[in-house]
Amino acid sequence: GPVLAVRDLHLSIGGAVIIDGVSLAVPRGEMLGVIGPNGAGKTTLFNLLSGVMRPTAGTVHLAGDDVTARSVDARARAGLGRTFQTSSLFDGLTAVENVRLAAQAALGGALSLVRFPGRGGAATERARDRLDQVGLAHHEHTVAGGLAHGDKRKLEIAMLLASDPHVILLDEPMAGVGSADVEGLMDLIRRVHREHGTTVLMVEHHMDVVLGLVDRLAVMHHGQLLACDSPEAVMADPTVQSAYLGATA
Ligand code: ADP
Ligand code: MG
Ligand code: MG
Repeated sequence: GPVLAVRDLHLSIGGAVIIDGVSLAVPRGEMLGVIGPNGAGKTTLFNLLSGVMRPTAGTVHLAGDDVTARSVDARARAGLGRTFQTSSLFDGLTAVENVRLAAQAALGGALSLVRFPGRGGAATERARDRLDQVGLAHHEHTVAGGLAHGDKRKLEIAMLLASDPHVILLDEPMAGVGSADVEGLMDLIRRVHREHGTTVLMVEHHMDVVLGLVDRLAVMHHGQLLACDSPEAVMADPTVQSAYLGATA
């Protein structure tokens, strides 16, 4: 079955309908793009998938298990990882320290910046490996706050990979990234997806990025899923054209 599935998901907050009956099944290993105008409910959908928010109605299944009532941590332990639209880095810590904290959390050890002799080796080793994987090995000892914007996004992905997730949710990974760095980030996401068979859901506004990366495209609008199909079919869909393309610059 699908690695991730939502059935008739609803979310209302204070009388406002935010998610309005979304059903979606994501096969293992798929790269799914999520697009839609600002305020369509994309980030909220990710919040519901990752457990940051609970739906008013409907279910979320991860690898066949109903995780609707489970916490963010429980879903993370079950292999679901996510990045946030705003940076979750500790600016004053070095790149390797940031990833080591994520690795310590994933390995179940106590969080500590201090390396005791003979301890914390696994987390450090894993942190170095993930930095290498995202191409930031040379910035191991650079403080996160001093990294270029594109490198900060790569560092966030390294932290995400520290927990060995098999499903990752990327919320606007290219946001604020200069055109020179977009290619590198795309390559990184493609590589993670291909080499590890990771299922990827990605909210992204750059259409050239989306179309070059994804297997299918999900279109959100007013809390509903308007379409979910191949990029070609979605872009040719007149409902999508009027709702999405008409509503963005
Ligand atoms: P997108 O990511 O597609 O831009 P969001 O999921 O962030 O959209 O927001 C969808 C709608 O839900 C917006 O109208 C937003 O104002 C509203 N919303 C999101 N989170 C909350 C919240 N915690 N309380 C009230 N309204 C919210
Ligand atoms: Mg938005
Ligand atoms: Mg958003």
